[in-house]
Amino acid sequence: MFLLQCPKCKNKMRYQGKDIYLTGKRKKCVYCGKSFKVNSNITKNYKN
Ligand SMILES: [Zn+2]
Repeated sequence: MFLLQCPKCKNKMRYQGKDIYLTGKRKKCVYCGKSFKVNSNITKNYKN
């Protein structure tokens, strides 16, 4: 599990998945709706 920070609204959200390092993987922010690149907005890497 990873913690992502939205580059627009700065809210943090959890992201589940092992494919996080694939280039071009995007996530839509649950707060403001902006979609951003996952791999460039990781703030923390959880082991579980
Ligand atoms: Zn956002």
